[in-house]
Amino acid sequence: MVVHIMNDAVNIDAVRTAARSLGPGSGVLRGPLIPAALSGRLGLEVLLKLETLQPTGAFKLRGATHAVRCLTGEEARRGVVCCSTGNHGRAVAFAARARGIPAVVCLSSLVTQVKVEAVAALGARVVRHGASQDEAQVMADRLARDEGLVPLPPFDHPHVIAGQGTIGLELLEDRPDLETVLVPLSGGGLLAGIAVAVKALKPSVRVIGVSMERGAAMAASLAAGHPVEVPELPTLADSLGGGIGLENRHSFALCRDLVDEVVLLTEAEIYQGMRWMLLRERMVVEGAAAVGVAALLAGKVRARGPTALIVSGQNVDMEQVLAIGRGEPVALGDIIVENRT
Ligand SMILES: *Cc1c(COP(=O)(O)O)cnc(C)c1O
Repeated sequence: MVVHIMNDAVNIDAVRTAARSLGPGSGVLRGPLIPAALSGRLGLEVLLKLETLQPTGAFKLRGATHAVRCLTGEEARRGVVCCSTGNHGRAVAFAARARGIPAVVCLSSLVTQVKVEAVAALGARVVRHGASQDEAQVMADRLARDEGLVPLPPFDHPHVIAGQGTIGLELLEDRPDLETVLVPLSGGGLLAGIAVAVKALKPSVRVIGVSMERGAAMAASLAAGHPVEVPELPTLADSLGGGIGLENRHSFALCRDLVDEVVLLTEAEIYQGMRWMLLRERMVVEGAAAVGVAALLAGKVRARGPTALIVSGQNVDMEQVLAIGRGEPVALGDIIVENRT
């Protein structure tokens, strides 16, 4: 297979540069790749890449740290602003504090309290605005304009994508025989970065994105052939909410050109993925991080060979994950998700 990368802002060299910037002393951890209990059930070698162990509890620290380290001295003095479903905001707050620069994080009312508190605890200024990710973004744009802050978007930014792509390098360093990788998909920074790295080093690896059915903006955009908007709805995979931006410049084209397949999950399937992660893998993870397991359990992807799942974050409301562990229904806005096996 010949891969044509139209987008030369993010290539394997950019990912290698990010890997150097995220080495020891950067605050970013190299999460281990461990065997999953799920392997026995499926007769497939399943490996879990534990981004849950990052100091902010999610992989977003990679992209945010690389982007903050790439700021010029003048940009660093102005400070940064972002909008986030929570994990990017926390990562930006952490990275900004590490460099000693100001950060403002805009969060919509859909962002869970646990994430809001974590961002504030890192010393960032938190601005609650709007009922959706897109509305919070409007506020971030306004603050960038009015206060001269440097915008640091959660996925559509070359340094952010290259930072997330370092996961792809590590996967192939640890397991050169890797054949399939399942990646949680929202704005596509994580998927695009991993796809850039993996397809450059080993094009035969199948790279699969996994989103929820409720509000899968990238899947809808790929189907339409251009970025489109979809309504944002409450989901167990709250970190996967939000649009990809109608003015998307990087992540859409990279996902379109490099990704083999995108699969969508129901809330009941995500529930079962979270339940499996807690009870069988014995890990507390957020819904977004359980979509790989959920997709395999639901039989929605036919993986072959050593298969890596990106366990992308652990910043979940503990009441929710404990309820799921006990098999209790979970209310999400207008719907109730039940334990249906
Ligand atoms: C942001 C996020 C994702 C999705 O990453 P994108 O780059 O937006 O596709 C997946 N899982 C978790 C835990 C996240 O915070």
